[in-house]
Amino acid sequence: MGILTLLPPQVSDPVAASLRRLAPDIPVWTEQAAARADEVEAIMAWRLQPGVLSAYPRLRLLCSLAAGVDKLLGMPDLPAGLPVTRVVDPRQQVEIAQFVIAATLRHTRELPRYEQQQRNGVWQRHPLRPPEQCRVGVLGLGSIGTAVANAFHALGFRVSGWSRSRKSLPGIACLAGQAELPALLAQSDVLVCTLPLTPATHGILNYSRLAQLPEGAFLVNVGRGEHVVEPDLLRLLDSGHLAGAALDVFGTEPVPPHDPLWHHERVMATPHIAAQPSFDVMAGQCIENVRRIRSGLPPLNAVDIAAGY
Ligand code: NDP
Repeated sequence: MGILTLLPPQVSDPVAASLRRLAPDIPVWTEQAAARADEVEAIMAWRLQPGVLSAYPRLRLLCSLAAGVDKLLGMPDLPAGLPVTRVVDPRQQVEIAQFVIAATLRHTRELPRYEQQQRNGVWQRHPLRPPEQCRVGVLGLGSIGTAVANAFHALGFRVSGWSRSRKSLPGIACLAGQAELPALLAQSDVLVCTLPLTPATHGILNYSRLAQLPEGAFLVNVGRGEHVVEPDLLRLLDSGHLAGAALDVFGTEPVPPHDPLWHHERVMATPHIAAQPSFDVMAGQCIENVRRIRSGLPPLNAVDIAAGY
């Protein structure tokens, strides 16, 4: 019994190499060198075509290659009771926090303006934005949102966070549940989305919610593109209600060449690079969970399929 990776070759090859190096005793197959279906006990994937899983009668584990599992849980034929796990990687949490801080400071410290001045040979100083106009709100206080909130707090920002269940984090105002979302939005000059994509969070950043942000607010999205209703974001950027956005994720990836967000002068758009997970971490967590399942233990980092994350 062994592990099958169902991934594009540029990912499958390094993941399979890590699996083989970390667990020489466990057979590993890639899509390109297929296994006998009844020997597959675990599949590593990011997204799958419907109907694929039913071909593996002895499958006991589905390992997402990412922190988010929306693509896998969205499959209509996900077998009931099959454990699905995700990657939880402390290095990835730090990488995302670095990205969010970089994108935010670029905006709040007006670096594009000073770069333009430098190109024009202009020596001109502008007043610093006062801290009371740099209040940060973080949507999602999970492994990534907590790292982001703590990073802002360490830099002296006033930080609030929002999650489904109430958290208690030193120095962070923790709000929870739908009823407290308007309060978080109203006090977020910088809004950072680190939510997972679920039926409850799909389209959560629509016109009415984004309009509740203070005038001149800035949005950073490192969750999933589908959290944002992109035409609504464009309207609020064009009307000037939002000063700008840093988007690492999009409803369609790669972004179509003529997408107006990709070309918007007040949008910093990056190709889903806020974090780049380690192949060894992905492989190591899958191997550990295969061994746990073989020993009758529950897998680590299993997702709550009913909640969607
Ligand atoms: P976690 O599961 O650890 O945390 C999710 C957080 O969101 C929790 O605090 C949870 O609340 C909260 N949440 C979920 N649903 C709701 C809701 N309906 N209302 C309010 N709060 C909600 O996930 P991670 O932090 O590890 O990852 C978050 C997402 O980041 C991933 O799903 C993925 O989409 C994205 N990501 C993006 C990357 C990139 O490169 N851009 C890389 C990695 C991840 P509670 O604590 O109460 O459960």
